[in-house]
Amino acid sequence: MMDIEKIYKDANAYLEGHFLLSSGKHSRFYLQSAKVLENPKTAAKLADELAKLINQGGIKVQSVCAPALGGILAGYELARALGSRSIFTERVDGKMTLRRGFNITRGEKFIICEDIITTGGSALESARIITELGGEVVAFAALANRGFCTRHNSNKIAKPTCKLPNDVPFFALEDFEFDIFEPDECPMCKSGSKAIKPGSRGN
Ligand code: ZN
Repeated sequence: MMDIEKIYKDANAYLEGHFLLSSGKHSRFYLQSAKVLENPKTAAKLADELAKLINQGGIKVQSVCAPALGGILAGYELARALGSRSIFTERVDGKMTLRRGFNITRGEKFIICEDIITTGGSALESARIITELGGEVVAFAALANRGFCTRHNSNKIAKPTCKLPNDVPFFALEDFEFDIFEPDECPMCKSGSKAIKPGSRGN
């Protein structure tokens, strides 16, 4: 089994500090998957491992769809590893859409792939579009699972905030569970430090 935490740490993608997440909550840790995926060989290795889990799970698809921007690299590499097609959805004025001439065949089987699944909101929005257009979403996948949802073959219980449907399998390489805090309950804020948005200071 691959040591996913070590791969993230070696790539300086497992950040420690005081982070403002897109949900508005604060965390001491942040996973910057773009730093892992900047090395195409590492990206390929991770995707091959993820594809292995998906194949072992008996899932077969024609296509992988990723929500832009975060999911695109992981989705593309997963599609390569599975020998499938790779497409992506993207937000236009906040609404997830399918553009760029991508077509979906009625009954076409899909995996929705993200770099990291937190509550799975973007993945679910992508899945809804694929379904509306006649595709069938048979699995979700991510390199890392932040522990809100339950990945395939894990006996952990999903948190109520997980948005992924529980009748569709979710494949991920690793669980990364960090505490997250409301700003007014954040111990780092209490000790006087200020949360920063990941990516805003070169991270
Ligand atoms: Zn804080």
